Formats: sequence, structure tokens, C-alpha cells
Amino acid sequence: MIAPIYVTQPFLPPLAEFQPYLEQIWANKILTNGGPFHQQLEHSLCDYLGVDHLALCANATVGLVIALQALGIKGEVITTPYSFVATSHSQMWNGISPVFVDIEPDTLNIDPAKIKAAITPRTTAIMAVHCYGNPCAVDAIAQIASESNLKVIYDAAHAFGVKHRGTSVLRHGDLAVLSFHATKVFNTFEGGAIVCPDAKTKQHIDHLKNFGFVDETTVVAAGINGKMSEVNAALGLLQLKYVGDALAARQKVDAFYRTALQGTVGITCLAKPINATPNYSYFPILVGTDFPTSRDTLHAAFKAKSINTRRYFYPLISSFPMYRSMSSADPQHLPVATAAAHSVLCLPIYPGLSPQDQARIVQVIHDI
Ligand SMILES: *Cc1c(COP(=O)(O)O)cnc(C)c1O
Repeated sequence: MIAPIYVTQPFLPPLAEFQPYLEQIWANKILTNGGPFHQQLEHSLCDYLGVDHLALCANATVGLVIALQALGIKGEVITTPYSFVATSHSQMWNGISPVFVDIEPDTLNIDPAKIKAAITPRTTAIMAVHCYGNPCAVDAIAQIASESNLKVIYDAAHAFGVKHRGTSVLRHGDLAVLSFHATKVFNTFEGGAIVCPDAKTKQHIDHLKNFGFVDETTVVAAGINGKMSEVNAALGLLQLKYVGDALAARQKVDAFYRTALQGTVGITCLAKPINATPNYSYFPILVGTDFPTSRDTLHAAFKAKSINTRRYFYPLISSFPMYRSMSSADPQHLPVATAAAHSVLCLPIYPGLSPQDQARIVQVIHDI
């Protein structure tokens, strides 16, 4: 029996190196509520990512919910259907109606040209996703937002460490939200962070993630419990020591696939982003009509060889029951996203993926 290949494997530092962190927690008995590891991780991440302020949180989904609250977003938010459900679920949890617009064929990110037509008197914000870590058209989005007085929130769950024109892509938008979930490039098992433009915004978000408490007896908002524990923060500090190696290993896998798949009829690798330093968080291929099988048949062929690939993002968010009756969810208005959902397959990519396994994966495609 050949060992299965997973689509992703969480990166874990050597267990022994975690012991001293745990001993410190056991000694000081500070388990959560913005303890020393939490504070250290916020500082270390700001340094590593090249941002000025960020607020750690329990996960990216609660981070998005808090980000919408912090900016007072109501009414309608223009967003992409080509993402993980948390993007629009976070809006629903705030009583906001998502309005889906189509994506660009080359980046699979929200198409700024489609945003304008979707603006109504109820529109208050744009929530865009740096899909697969590839930067959105940040300038065009900023321009539209300023013309129409809209806020911009980036779901940057995929965009850890991504640079755009030499600076962190996380500096764009009013707020940007990272995910540190187990499946992401940098993980704290569960976790996330909200990147803030200034100290005042961060402070407000720190209140919101702690029930709205400012001090023992003062509650300034109907906040939530969105705090990151000390164990998760400690893990983050240890992971940070290895994240450079992890990104370098991912880059090698990305390069191998691009070379090995070059000239394969019917298979297109999603283009590398222009003017950006990516993080190689995913490896999406587009299975064209000139490939001998459908995308789903290829997916099944991989499965038959114990190789897990992912139709990420299929189905589109807009096709789930809680969204599909919305007028903006009509697939006729979302032709690019609909086509992408039916042609994308994400190949396995993670630091420990061996060259033999990479070859095994490419062989499945070449055999067809
Ligand atoms: C993973 C992911 C999320 C949710 O992140 P959690 O930390 O698991 O809550 C949100 N948006 C996108 C695009 C994601 O990929």
C-alpha cells in the first residue's frame, strides 16, 4: 500500500522545542487574556510581516466578524463568491447582505470593474479576498472605495507574508484579516489576526474581542470572545522561527510543478502574481476543455492513487442554500467565477512534500 498524499499537511516544529513555552505557562499560570506570549507574538508578527499594528484573535472568522463591527458596517457589502464560506458568513453574522460580483480570470480575485455597477445606496463596504495569496487589484479597489465612500476589508486568510510592490499586502484596506488555521502557511492550530492602520483602531478591536471590556467595570461595546490563548500564541512564536524555511520549501514545490507541467495540453498553472512576492500557499491548476478528462475525473483519478487534491473553491459560496436565492448569486452574473469553480484543482503543496511524491502527482496528469 502506497502512503496517501494529503493536499496539505500542517507544519509542526520539533515537539521538544515547545516544552519550554509550556513550562513558562505552567509557571506563570497566565493562560489567556492578553498574556506575555500574546503580546510577544503581536510584536513579532508586526516585525515579520512589516505592519504597524495587529490584534491577534481566536480565528479568522471571528476576526472578520469583529472587523465588520469595528468599522460599523451595515446594509450591503460587495464581495467575491470565489472564496471560503467564512468570507460571506462573517457578513451574515452581522446582519449584512453580501452582494456577489464576478472575479478576474487571471487572478481569480474580485474584478474591480464589476464593483461599481453593484453599488447601491445601501452599500457600505467591499470585502475582497487575496485568493491563494495573490494580491487583489488594491489600487483600483481603493479608488472605487474613496469615490463612493466605502470601507475596504481584506480577507487576507491566504496572504501571510505576501508582499506587493515590496511592502506587505496587509497594509491595504481599512482592515485585513489573517488566518492561522492548521491548514494555512503559518498556523497556531487555530488563530488569526486583524491588521490595523493605527493604535486607536487596534485598541478598539482589542476591546471588541474581549466582550467590549475596557477595564474591570467598563464595557464600551457589545463585544465577543475572540481572544487567542497563550498556548496558541506560544505556538505562533515557535512557528515564526521556521516560517522562512517553510516558505522556501513551498517555493521549491511550486517551481517543480511549474516546470513539470509546462506544455501539458489542457493544464494551466495559475499565473504568478505580478509585482508581488507570493507565499506559495496553494497550487491551483486550471483543467481546460482540451484536457482529455474533466476536472472531476482528474480529481477522482488522483483519489484512486491515494492523492488528495482539492476543488478549492467549489461549490461557489453563492451556490450554497443560504445565498443562492439572492439576485447577485445568479450564476449568469458570475460567469468567470462559475467557470473557475468547475476547472480549478489545487494540487498538494506543503513543506514536507517529498520530491518522489511530487513526481507521483505529476505522473497522474501525464498518464492521462
Ligand atoms: C481559512 C479561511 C478563512 C477562515 O479562517 P479560520 O481561521 O479557519 O476562521 C476565511 N477566509 C478564507 C479565504 C480562508 O481560506
